[in-house]
Amino acid sequence: MGIGAAGVLAGSSAFANIIIPKRKDKLGVALVGLGYYSRDLLAPALQLTQHCELKGIVTGSPDKVSQWQKRYGITDKNIYNYDNMNRIAGNPDIDVIYIVLPTGLHAKYAVKAANTGKHVWCEKPMARTAEECQQIIDACKKNKVKLSIGYRMQHEPNTQTVIRFGREKTYGKLKSIRAEAGYYDGRTTHWKQNKALGGGAMYDMGVYPLNAIRYASGEEPIAVVKASHETNRPKVYTEVDETTLFTLEFPSGLVANGKTSFGMNMNELRVECEKGWYELRPFQAYNGVRGRTSDGKELNQRIPNQQAKQMDEDAMAIKENTAVMVPGEEGLRDIRIVEAIYQSAKEGKRIAL
Ligand code: NAD
Repeated sequence: MGIGAAGVLAGSSAFANIIIPKRKDKLGVALVGLGYYSRDLLAPALQLTQHCELKGIVTGSPDKVSQWQKRYGITDKNIYNYDNMNRIAGNPDIDVIYIVLPTGLHAKYAVKAANTGKHVWCEKPMARTAEECQQIIDACKKNKVKLSIGYRMQHEPNTQTVIRFGREKTYGKLKSIRAEAGYYDGRTTHWKQNKALGGGAMYDMGVYPLNAIRYASGEEPIAVVKASHETNRPKVYTEVDETTLFTLEFPSGLVANGKTSFGMNMNELRVECEKGWYELRPFQAYNGVRGRTSDGKELNQRIPNQQAKQMDEDAMAIKENTAVMVPGEEGLRDIRIVEAIYQSAKEGKRIAL
């Protein structure tokens, strides 16, 4: 699909009938779901991007519309709801549809988005099951549109240093990795406590330590060695996990331990190697990701805004027609492992991947 729908007629009469497509400087983005992440992080970040801009919204809450229009100057024709969002297909203002809904709704609306012929950005975790992830990938392939998953850490420079250390074996062969991410969520009836909507710590926060273990190792795990769930609030966490622990084994012999929780604050990635160690603490905060190494290096690069960098890099991949940094297959790999982690915790045994 084209991104430069607007055209200009060439000046000379000899070329009077030739339309020279004018490339858009900025791609128009429509946010689907106007909850916390869209409202507090993505929409403000879209005011800082160079290659994309907030042009549309898709919401089931009409009461939110006027405030968003006032704040971001969104025109009436670029306001949609979940039932009529297929009409975005004919709207040249919108190039990208960004799914920021509860995880259990990602597949349904990412597929709808792909079927409009617009590019698709989908928040993490990609979906509830590997099958749903595959449906999104297939819909984007069928419609020849790009698909990026919102794993913002892979766009973050200190994270990229750690990925390079792993790839280049800067501190020797990797021996073990520990990754932990969690926060105290005081809500009790949010979708994050609802199984059908994709709740549970392992889906929501757990993909951070899982993805970190994978990007830091540069390998794909061969087994979930063990996994378990814990809760301090059994009356709240009746259908999803509050805290999950998991151990992964890799082809090189590397072992990784992950932990995630809605009941405690933690935010650390630590890699032990044969010739030293390095860590990021915090490793997935919105800002202030920083770390250190066993030989005294500080990992302390600063960027103005993670979400703006992510969206600009994803927009550039569309404009230049290059590979996206975090494709659907990356989201799918994590969800396959998440499913195996739940299976391992349930059955109390090792699950080969
Ligand atoms: P939220 O609950 O604040 O917002 C969800 C939005 O979806 C709300 O506007 C709600 O009205 C709408 N919605 C539509 N149908 C719904 C339904 N059936 N039930 C509940 N809500 C419904 O959630 P959020 O924290 O904004 O999370 C949205 C997505 O963004 C999730 O996939 C989450 O994992 C992701 N997220 C990513 C990051 C990140 O750093 N990349 C951070 C926060 C959230």
